[in-house]
Amino acid sequence: MTGAEALARGAARLRAAGIEAAMGDARRLLCHALKLPPERLTLALQAPLSPDAAARFESAIAARAARQPVAQITGVRQFWGREFRVTPDVLDPRPETETLIEAALEAPFARVLDLGTGSGCILLTLLAERAGASGIGIDISEAALKVARANADALGLAQRAEFRRGDWCAGLSARFDLIVSNPPYIGAQEWAGLAPELREWEPRGALCPEGDALAAYRAIAAQVPGRLTHGGRVLLEVGAGQAEAVQEMLRDAGLAGVDTRADMDGRARVVLATRP
Ligand code: GLN
Repeated sequence: MTGAEALARGAARLRAAGIEAAMGDARRLLCHALKLPPERLTLALQAPLSPDAAARFESAIAARAARQPVAQITGVRQFWGREFRVTPDVLDPRPETETLIEAALEAPFARVLDLGTGSGCILLTLLAERAGASGIGIDISEAALKVARANADALGLAQRAEFRRGDWCAGLSARFDLIVSNPPYIGAQEWAGLAPELREWEPRGALCPEGDALAAYRAIAAQVPGRLTHGGRVLLEVGAGQAEAVQEMLRDAGLAGVDTRADMDGRARVVLATRP
């Protein structure tokens, strides 16, 4: 069987499983099976698949048909131009989160705190973009911290990134000139309506704060002013329709310059503020 034939069959199977981006996903999984970068796939399609590659593709398609996210199957995700390791223990980094990166890079910073670091994609991207900066990533999940540390090693950032288990800012005494977070923001009552990729494969704790959808923001807004330097900034990713409520929390916490940034769909995606 050629690559092209395998691709057509794989895509058909994903389509039958109700996956909208069936062809795109099948192509990414075939690249993974062939260990090829995407730009070399087209050329390779006319050649017969080796038995090894065919077996890898078959099991990848089966996993995707069971609604496992592509990044968990391939084990990697591109974020802000770098490759991050992704496992079922961490949130799959989303392109929308690049809006937060862009906003964070608008001003200088030296010490960064990332609350709920997951794969470490936010902290590590910011440190990679700012040569002199260092920081701490906090997560409640020890399994997630393991993935974040592996990503720091792979990106050559282990000297500047520390990862600690913790409950938001609890136990931290230092101050930071940049605090970032993409906290869980899906309400428990929305859980049943989520796509199976999220509900069945991604870590619930990364998506759902338990209690109401804004619970994590409330905790973070109460703690963040005490951990910011004067002039330090906080940037929080928010879910649809949450920006106003989070802006109000940051104002009530005594922060200034409260503002939002929109994602590529024009939706308020990041709320930011400064400690006066
Ligand atoms: N900070 C990580 C990300 O943005 C993880 C966020 C989370 O688990 N809620 O991808």
